[in-house]
Amino acid sequence: MSKTNIAVLGAQWGDEGKGKIVDMLTPHFSAVARYQGGHNAGHTVYVQGKKFVLHLIPSGILHPGVICLIGNGVVVDPQALFAEVDELARAEIHVDGRLFVSEKAHVILPYHRELDVLSEARRGERKIGTTSRGIGPAYEDKIGRRGVRVCDLLGDRTALADEVRENVNARNHMIKDSTLDWKPVFDQVVAFGERMRPWVADVSLCLHRMMLDGKTVMFEGAQATLLDIDHGTYPFVTSSNASIGGVCTGLGVPPRAIGGVLGVAKAYTTRVGEGPLPTELSGALADRLRESGQEYGASTGRPRRCGWYDAVVVRYSARVNGLDAVALTKLDVLDGLSEVLICTGYKTSVGTLTEFPADLRLLTGAEPVYERMPGWTTPTKGATRFESLPMEAQRYVRRLEEVSGVACAIISTGSDRAETIVKSGSVVERWLAD
Ligand code: GDP
Repeated sequence: MSKTNIAVLGAQWGDEGKGKIVDMLTPHFSAVARYQGGHNAGHTVYVQGKKFVLHLIPSGILHPGVICLIGNGVVVDPQALFAEVDELARAEIHVDGRLFVSEKAHVILPYHRELDVLSEARRGERKIGTTSRGIGPAYEDKIGRRGVRVCDLLGDRTALADEVRENVNARNHMIKDSTLDWKPVFDQVVAFGERMRPWVADVSLCLHRMMLDGKTVMFEGAQATLLDIDHGTYPFVTSSNASIGGVCTGLGVPPRAIGGVLGVAKAYTTRVGEGPLPTELSGALADRLRESGQEYGASTGRPRRCGWYDAVVVRYSARVNGLDAVALTKLDVLDGLSEVLICTGYKTSVGTLTEFPADLRLLTGAEPVYERMPGWTTPTKGATRFESLPMEAQRYVRRLEEVSGVACAIISTGSDRAETIVKSGSVVERWLAD
């Protein structure tokens, strides 16, 4: 068991393979806690050959005895939650007593999805490329102070009726000629609340008590730093704080509860949806990465845009999150390439940038500055020791560490839990050996 609580979060634009890293670290923790996002995240985990795609419930639920918590920073679609609970139950995994949902989490209401689609359509050319699951509109209602929280579903019915009525009125203002009746929405959310009741808890207090008892927690991020509402490539971002600050606000835990931060980064870069991706490739090389890396969204099946490793991005993530180490995933996807490139800066209209800019217009037409390194022919796939990697792959990883300013403590060489290198002497080894 680890004696340190750690946060595991995405260091690029998401889909870095956090699912596998979280899954392999879970046995060292008593609990896994999600702090932001909604069911737009997607973790693919294989357990005894059976595939599970979890969107909302931490994948820790697949490990017997591990407590899973969904924090106030998450927006919860009750129907999506029930679907996952039912799927788990079919596999004989029962959540009662192990799943806790914050009473302060905001609820995605049945029409938030429709508002999401509408808002994307209104943006036209400037669409964000959201998953259209109502996440953004639910966060808008939260910040607009007209949201409905999980505790509201369980409390006084008259107050809930007022809240739902106000929320539906706000929605009707947004959609021309629309007069949705609030009453059926009210009846539906009351039913949602009844089914959720056994899992509803004061998650901040649960975590506080667990930590007092000496139990350790892994804080699990969804999406990633470059999709963070504040620190990401705004407006092409998600609606929550996916980076480290979200742990405190999204779970009600103090900063000192976070003993370590592990960023997950792919050995190359991908992005789904719209927005800048400075190292984006096209043509045969992009197809090669997409096919070998199976770069299709777990939630939507959308093909991901692929590019070379961007050290500017990971260095930025290391700074914003205070990364202690990186878990570098999918090194095996680069097996067999004659050359591998690393981006260390962007040539732009205002000169060469080596820090990630706020103004995305600077990235339009930016040309990446690349370092070129020889590829490797001996596969890294399945390697479990750094020393057994081909020399060129070792050099590539070392160079990534230098230019990104953070050590790779874990290197993932395949989707299986066993296909992993934990570097000896690394901070992760220390966390787990504590
Ligand atoms: P997440 O949202 O960050 O967990 O990422 P996804 O679940 O969308 O994508 C990760 C996919 O990559 C899953 O299908 C994993 O099984 C797979 N994967 C994770 N690590 C590796 C790796 O090191 N090599 C390969 N080839 N696949 C990996």
